[in-house]
Amino acid sequence: MSRQDFPELREGVRQVVSAFDSRYWQEVDEARAFPEKFVNALTDAGWLSALIPEEYGGSNLSLTEASVIMEEINRAGGNSGACHGQMYVMGCVVRHGSKAQKEALLPKIASGELRMQSMAVTEPTTGSDTTQLKTVAVRQGDHYVVNGQKVWTSRLQHSDFMLLLARTTPLADVKKKSEGLSVFLVDLREEVGKSITVKPIRNMVNHETNEIFIDNLRIPVENRIGEEGKGLKYIMDGLNAERILIAAECVGDGYWFIDRATQYAKERVVFGRSIAHNQGIQFPIAKAHVNVEAASLMRYEAARLFDAGLPCGAEANMSKLLAADASWEAANVCLQTHGGFGFAAEYDIERKFRETRLYQVAPISTNLILSYVGEHVLGMPKSY
Ligand SMILES: Cc1cc2nc3c(=O)[nH]c(=O)nc-3n(C[C@H](O)[C@H](O)[C@H](O)COP(=O)(O)OP(=O)(O)OC[C@H]3O[C@@H](n4cnc5c(N)ncnc54)[C@H](O)[C@@H]3O)c2cc1C
Repeated sequence: MSRQDFPELREGVRQVVSAFDSRYWQEVDEARAFPEKFVNALTDAGWLSALIPEEYGGSNLSLTEASVIMEEINRAGGNSGACHGQMYVMGCVVRHGSKAQKEALLPKIASGELRMQSMAVTEPTTGSDTTQLKTVAVRQGDHYVVNGQKVWTSRLQHSDFMLLLARTTPLADVKKKSEGLSVFLVDLREEVGKSITVKPIRNMVNHETNEIFIDNLRIPVENRIGEEGKGLKYIMDGLNAERILIAAECVGDGYWFIDRATQYAKERVVFGRSIAHNQGIQFPIAKAHVNVEAASLMRYEAARLFDAGLPCGAEANMSKLLAADASWEAANVCLQTHGGFGFAAEYDIERKFRETRLYQVAPISTNLILSYVGEHVLGMPKSY
């Protein structure tokens, strides 16, 4: 597999994303606005419903193909962060939702009538240690009553539904700490401003993300996904897909940086010749390219295993790590190649530089991936 594979799919995505150029992304970045037109265009063209089964109005593409969609968005200079949630958040409903939940949500998500691209897992006091989360859902008859706090809940202001992970059995009463957590569908249209208070977090990138305070939120029992107490397993089930899609975004970023760096290096004349003549400029770009290509192959391998229904935890995690490192290396090289102009907003490098840095931390930080590989692949002791 290479960047030439899936030519028709790539061409189809490019037709949509090419309408959103650097100027568009700079404008939304500067205004800290949500790229509404871009997300709508992708939705209307059907690209965000790639993973929804055909019977519910989606195109039922493979994860490999979905990863190519994300790659092409970022490769064209776009920021998938505004929409990638839609690709994998609804995966939880596809895999574990009831027939009624699927029928109610998926066709409307596929058509763009509803958006469900928000997932509230992380909490301010517990961070990566998800099993310790403090948000509780207490069953009262045919409802759960939820109280707690979440942080970094992205795209909430641009979603109609959100997935929420909360503890339904106290930690002291479960055999394994990963048990006793449940996942719920929350109708944000009903609850924001009432039981959910939203405090936006201004952050380094143009990414709509929030701190949320949940106060006596009543969720009907039929909005629980799957069995009570198995929520973390359902969320974890979707994480391999998430890691692979994010890896593909990083690959897209990597190609974008390398294209920009190569082009600029060939055009910029200093000391009477293009700076691309200097190996001090050329080699770092070439090396970054090699690493992006390698990361892309690991992404394809992880996606292949996923699509075949085979275990892919190790490959999904490794592809995310390799791709995030490769895109960050390419970002640094691109900035360096541009010299001072790399810092000028007009060149758009600094925006992408900020955006690709996020992948070292979210949705899973590099250390936690290394810890997974150390423990689960290499059999070393658990470090936490
Ligand atoms: C822009 C943005 C958007 C996000 N969107 C969402 C979202 O939509 N939904 C959601 O639920 N979350 C979201 N997150 C949260 C994100 O998943 C977390 O920030 C991430 O998982 C890390 O958790 P933390 O920030 O609490 O860091 P911490 O867990 O506090 O960790 C801090 C640092 O310590 C390291 N560390 C922690 N434990 C260990 C260990 N045992 N060994 C070695 N190193 C360790 C981490 O790797 C990290 O570098 C988002 C974050 C950002 C920044």
